[in-house]
Amino acid sequence: MVDTLTIINHPLIQDKLTRMRDVNTPPPIFRGLMRQVGALLAYEAMRDLPVGERSIETPLETGVFPCLDGPNICLASVLRAGNGLLDGALDIAPEAQVAHLGFYRDEETLRPVEYYFNRPPNIEARCVFVVDPMLATGHSAIAAVEKLKQVGAQQMSFLCLLASPEGAQAFAKAHPDVRIYTASLDRQLSDKGYILPGLGDAGDRLYGTIDI
Ligand code: URA
Repeated sequence: MVDTLTIINHPLIQDKLTRMRDVNTPPPIFRGLMRQVGALLAYEAMRDLPVGERSIETPLETGVFPCLDGPNICLASVLRAGNGLLDGALDIAPEAQVAHLGFYRDEETLRPVEYYFNRPPNIEARCVFVVDPMLATGHSAIAAVEKLKQVGAQQMSFLCLLASPEGAQAFAKAHPDVRIYTASLDRQLSDKGYILPGLGDAGDRLYGTIDI
């Protein structure tokens, strides 16, 4: 059991996830479902965002009402599949600023190597939500959060569609201060690093880069 893991067991999310697992779901439908689940995961993960208040005039009177306390959300997408969840998170937090992180796997060391990094300024003052659909080995997720910490990020959460027990444990050990939100903790990691039962390669299924 990983203390920092929250499984979002909502019927709407679980139904969409089942459709995404289905090998017969084509990329346009898969992409739409990923976007919707991205919004729903972000909605849950953003529950504890700091809230302020401001004075406005309704058509009838003046009053003080709750609002987000500053433009302080940063969404950090781990390329390329993170962009599938990112679109949905941006639907509900359109003013969020976006960081992108790209890693490839060094085939000799099997470690992630950074090839792209871009981020908004003042990341240390923002609530950062890292999005990456598949927490499989955990290597790229751990590296992404490490990189964001190096540039000053302090408050972070990690959002994924599926987690493997192995990936969740590795991530929690590396980053015990970062809560993981997922739609499912699947059975296991295959010897090729795929999540089982899983949904296949999330990037391929999003962008149609496989024969179907
Ligand atoms: N990345 C994927 O897209 N799918 C997996 O099952 C594991 C890693």
